[in-house]
Amino acid sequence: MTKLILKLNTTKNFLLGIFLFGLNSFPVFAEKPFADIHLHYNWDQAETISPAEVISKIKKTNTRLAIISSTPTHLALELKQKAGNWLYPIFSPYTHELGKQDWYVDTKLVDKVEQGLKSGNYFGLGEIHFMAGFPPNSKNKNFKALMNLAKRYQVPVLIHVDSGDEKYFLDICTKHKKVKILFAHAGGNLSANHIQEILTTCSNVWLEFSARDPWRYGGLTDESHYLLEEWKIVIIKFSNRILTGTDPVWRVTRTQSWDQVDDGWDHYEKLHQFHQSWINTLPSKIQEQIRWTNAREFLNLKP
Ligand SMILES: [Zn+2]
Ligand SMILES: [Zn+2]
Repeated sequence: MTKLILKLNTTKNFLLGIFLFGLNSFPVFAEKPFADIHLHYNWDQAETISPAEVISKIKKTNTRLAIISSTPTHLALELKQKAGNWLYPIFSPYTHELGKQDWYVDTKLVDKVEQGLKSGNYFGLGEIHFMAGFPPNSKNKNFKALMNLAKRYQVPVLIHVDSGDEKYFLDICTKHKKVKILFAHAGGNLSANHIQEILTTCSNVWLEFSARDPWRYGGLTDESHYLLEEWKIVIIKFSNRILTGTDPVWRVTRTQSWDQVDDGWDHYEKLHQFHQSWINTLPSKIQEQIRWTNAREFLNLKP
């Protein structure tokens, strides 16, 4: 009990609400501008929620900057056209509904990506998924060509890797040192030690914690949404390269059924609150970096 009172005394008022009423029943959003750097508006989400509803949900949380990618690619651009300049689409190599399954053998893909970057409408590439032991791997021709385009057009790449240790991703970031890489979900199942190794070795890597919430990968916080000590150390040490986002795709694993709608946007507010709660336990300068300024630097925007 003493521990609980101490914790309550050291947190902001809205965290008190979370303790007393639970995350789901007490929707409190950011008092300060928030940057959500991992959003999707995929075809299987577009079947359940309209662009107007998505935009309204994002705005209610005081999110003033967001990075979004879609399957198929063009949906992100359509959302931006309705939302305005605060939404930054990145070019998804999944150009059709099942593109996640064949992008790496599509002989026209590299041209399509280059056209997208040339248009000036896209601010990066991704999300690109790898799973250790399954095709494609990072030696794939299309992947290498996309990394070369990222280097030439000086845009960042969002990469998702599912593997048992840090080696798979280290191989990517050391081979593409001139590309700014955003490592999705802090590697999903990777530990703080793995991540420390990656951030130390590759200064081109930025880290984000989407889907590290208790309902998906987890492993970032305790049940009260306080950062685990080992993560706190990494975040404070590399605070200028840490970002976060909600990734409102409800089934993040490959076992999801491709023909079912994804109701991830129904959980968006809860995911947003989770990230606010762990950010708010950090020193205020670092809160500001993760919530806002790092995202602007990541996109090379003016302060
Ligand atoms: Zn992902
Ligand atoms: Zn994602």
